[in-house]
Amino acid sequence: MAAAPGGSPPQSPPKPPQIGEGQDVLARWTDGLLYLGVVKKVDPSRRGCLIQFEDNSQFFVLWKDISPAAVPGEEPSCCVCGGNGGNGGNGGNGGNGGNSGNSGNAGNGRNPGNAGNGGNGRNGGNGQNGGNSGNSGNAGNGGNRQNGGNSLVRCGKCGHAYHQRCHVPPPPGGPGPWSCRRCVFAVATKRGGALRRGPQARAMLRMKSVLPYALGALDWDPPHLHNLQHCYCYCGGPGHWNLKMLQCSQCSQWFHEACTQCLSKPLLYGDRFYVFECSVCRGGAESVRRLPLRWVDVAHLLLYHLSVCCKKKYFDLEREILPFANSNWEALLLGQLSATPKSERYGRLLGALSTHKDRFVSGREMKKRKGLFGLHTRAPPPLPPNLLRGPPGTPRPEPDSPPIRMFASFHPSANTSPSSPTPDPEPSPPPARRRPPPRPPRAPLPPPRPRPPPLPPPLPPASSRAA
Ligand code: ZN
Ligand code: ZN
Ligand code: ZN
Repeated sequence: MAAAPGGSPPQSPPKPPQIGEGQDVLARWTDGLLYLGVVKKVDPSRRGCLIQFEDNSQFFVLWKDISPAAVPGEEPSCCVCGGNGGNGGNGGNGGNGGNSGNSGNAGNGRNPGNAGNGGNGRNGGNGQNGGNSGNSGNAGNGGNRQNGGNSLVRCGKCGHAYHQRCHVPPPPGGPGPWSCRRCVFAVATKRGGALRRGPQARAMLRMKSVLPYALGALDWDPPHLHNLQHCYCYCGGPGHWNLKMLQCSQCSQWFHEACTQCLSKPLLYGDRFYVFECSVCRGGAESVRRLPLRWVDVAHLLLYHLSVCCKKKYFDLEREILPFANSNWEALLLGQLSATPKSERYGRLLGALSTHKDRFVSGREMKKRKGLFGLHTRAPPPLPPNLLRGPPGTPRPEPDSPPIRMFASFHPSANTSPSSPTPDPEPSPPPARRRPPPRPPRAPLPPPRPRPPPLPPPLPPASSRAA
């Protein structure tokens, strides 16, 4: 992806980037993570491409969310402005340094992206990018950064070149390898929350101090849930507010769980019971605070999360809702309610489900089995009105019925079993499981990175799997 210079409106590159049909690319999905795919069709009128992912699923992805691989040996040009050369001879030097380092990429075979980023492919894979260690050639870049000019600087991981002023934030001066914003995110983002410690986490925090697009130029819907540009988070990628994103209480932008570094537990779908401030607004590390929940909120949240995961409406309190709550009790972060003994939880949840007819419908009312409960409207639990956030400075009412995307983010590469020896610990959405078996990967992916403590998956009833 080409990052737009800070201050200018978010936009796709002025001309189609070096993307052609059949090319291997990394594409950012709505969960903020990058996945390996192949370009099937380039569509200039929509400024995007049809991408086929490793599980053979095909989706349209905007240019801004596609990262073509650098071509080893090619004359370097800035992947933001497309220009080559920089300030005089420095640009040339940068190119050379980059090229030699880049041979490491070539060694990675057909999955160039995967050098630095590929990692993410597995999304994993995320590899520590071992493959790329061969990038020492980048040290050559260092010299070029010293003059505070606008030389081309090559990323030590992916081999892409950037003018110093085109990359956000500008590469710091000094010798040594440098990683571009995209590669830093590819390594540090994770489901459940990004890396919080170590050099990659610190590099990510530096990148997160500034957005790669102009926040004020986005066109939002009235409830401030979607924007026309499909541009969210620090990564500028697409997203869905109800699918594991946090809204900043200051700037009102939405941020992917995978790109935040402040969560102690993974988010549930539709969980807005947090007060979050982003790194841009804080000028440093993010802050997050859990809001108190009532039993009606807990019941609503559990039902909504399960309905997104399992794609069905009704759940059995005793056999599905309660076991899911019990096995994720700590991760629910229920504050005062967390002290509730196991023996009382059934009664509390039943009380909430039975008394809030405005939110819940019981199986008995629908002439279904007693003990089944569902949501009247498939929407996340509402926040108390005083906590709703709209555009900065304007308090806004809760939307009546926002259009809600009712399936979990898909994880194409989660299906590439050869690269993921351990099962996905998160409640994987059934859609991904039902996809056709993946092709064998074209090149070995780096080993998957460690994951945060998982939410055990809900018990997907056989009926939903067969659906
Ligand atoms: Zn993100
Ligand atoms: Zn890079
Ligand atoms: Zn903010």
